[in-house]
Amino acid sequence: MAKEFVSLKIFKSILFLAILASIFYLVSLEWKKRNTPLPTEMNPIVAENRDLLIQKASEKGINIVITDDFRSAAEQDRLYEQGRSREGTIVTHVEGGESYHNYGLAIDFALKLDDGSVVWNLERDDNGNGQSDWMEVVGIAKDLGFEWGGDWAGFKDYPHLEMNFGLSIRELQYGERPPSNIRN
Ligand SMILES: [Zn+2]
Repeated sequence: MAKEFVSLKIFKSILFLAILASIFYLVSLEWKKRNTPLPTEMNPIVAENRDLLIQKASEKGINIVITDDFRSAAEQDRLYEQGRSREGTIVTHVEGGESYHNYGLAIDFALKLDDGSVVWNLERDDNGNGQSDWMEVVGIAKDLGFEWGGDWAGFKDYPHLEMNFGLSIRELQYGERPPSNIRN
């Protein structure tokens, strides 16, 4: 009888500690979320690869323009309003803090023609090598380690390229951050 009472007491202590540890864990998650500011610029590794992409595409006779890279949460919210509370067509499905652009981990590109016009055309073959210029750029980007929005199962975002370093948007929202040093 006394022995059972002791084990019950131990069980209660363990339960109490487990609850305490869980509360501490949740509070520290929330603390990290509140105290990790959103980035204000491109992640240096992604910026380096963005520049490499422009250079390598140019070497193949394809000129690209980066139409968007870092986007603040406020800019993202403003973009989200487009086609909803504001005029225009819907260009994004996510609000501020929900896009890899908000963490400086994504870029959008378009093709720039010799006459200076910017086009979103997946078929053009202006360097005349029998391959779609757009898909050549995507190929270079993937070799550099980018993930392509055109591969997404749901909404396809053809100009979009991102490096998420294995971090989900939720993890980024909770203050997790990818490396920012240029690796060798
Ligand atoms: Zn994008």
